[in-house]
Amino acid sequence: MITTFHGWAAAAAGARLERMEYDCGALRPEQVQVRVESCGICHSDLSMLDNEWGNSRYPLVPGHEVIGVVEEVGAQVKGLEAGDRVGLGWFSGSCLACHSCLSGNHQLCGSAEQIIVGRHGGFADRVRANWEWAVKLPTALDPETAGPLFCGGITVFGPIVDFGIKPTDRVGVVGIGGLGHLALQFLNKWGCEVTAFTSSESKREEARKLGAHHVVSSRDRAAVSKLTGTLDFILVTVNVTLDWDAYIAALAPDGRLHFVGAVLEPVPVAPFSLIGGRKSVSGSPLGSPATVATMLEFCARHRIAPVTEIFPMHEVNAALDHLRAGKARHRIVLKNS
Ligand code: NAP
Ligand code: ZN
Repeated sequence: MITTFHGWAAAAAGARLERMEYDCGALRPEQVQVRVESCGICHSDLSMLDNEWGNSRYPLVPGHEVIGVVEEVGAQVKGLEAGDRVGLGWFSGSCLACHSCLSGNHQLCGSAEQIIVGRHGGFADRVRANWEWAVKLPTALDPETAGPLFCGGITVFGPIVDFGIKPTDRVGVVGIGGLGHLALQFLNKWGCEVTAFTSSESKREEARKLGAHHVVSSRDRAAVSKLTGTLDFILVTVNVTLDWDAYIAALAPDGRLHFVGAVLEPVPVAPFSLIGGRKSVSGSPLGSPATVATMLEFCARHRIAPVTEIFPMHEVNAALDHLRAGKARHRIVLKNS
């Protein structure tokens, strides 16, 4: 069995990535080893590279939107065999014994293993994960573009399922990047009336093509305020501070302002802005493996796919610069040759 992997690693916060060889030792009985075909770049990879969240360990091989082929399975692996094409996202293990795991919320497991936290991820030729997080890719989906569904996709699909968004709902998506451009597609096909909030004039037309019925400037308080009392669900995918008061005011009674974007500054919430309309402010991480499988089926049925720009894996530094500059349309995928 191959145990020597080759990946693209940062030696310290902010450093350029360099090719690195590392030995992964024996495969654990519950793990699969995946030969990486491609890997999307999520904004969280940038945050980890920069140690923005304080939990990065170096050398760090990023990458958590993997498509690849299973080449080895441990003795306790269930439901997968060598040759299966799978996708992997942020999580690479969960305990399978806690209340969250047993109730089907593996993404809430307190001891979940995160694929690029203290271990090496998918900007590499190989990566490992526990079997429950390696979800088979349906043959109807294009493996070259499917990677971003496994983090960007499930992070915005999860809350649609978990919070029971209805086809009759009016919804908003704030930020039309890697996550947001998938949210527009999902919510449109879900049946909702969709408003895109973007800070990029150049994305207005694209947002409509992706499924937005209306487009509003995300940084224009007056424009957001025109929507006061109208939206049942607002999904925030940006990682910057916006005028949250105006967004809370834009919620209809029982509306929810939901954060998946990792905004680092506190969000000031006056309880009175929630009480009268019984409104909520919430957040969530990705979704369970079962919800991933449901999302993949939904994508196949509705022909939903990430809009990608493909870079060869060895051009990873140029690809990261492209994303940092805000130029990605809408998700970069690194491809192994
Ligand atoms: P991305 O592709 O970089 O998209 C972020 C979008 O935010 C941009 O495209 C832009 O959209 C908007 N934005 C950026 N700077 C802005 C500014 N100064 N003012 C207003 N809007 C701005 O990032 P992503 O990969 O979608 O990730 C988004 C966030 O989700 C990140 O914080 C990431 O870490 C987080 N994340 C969380 C989870 C989770 O489990 N909760 C999972 C994955 C990612 P417009 O051009 O349309 O304004
Ligand atoms: Zn991610």
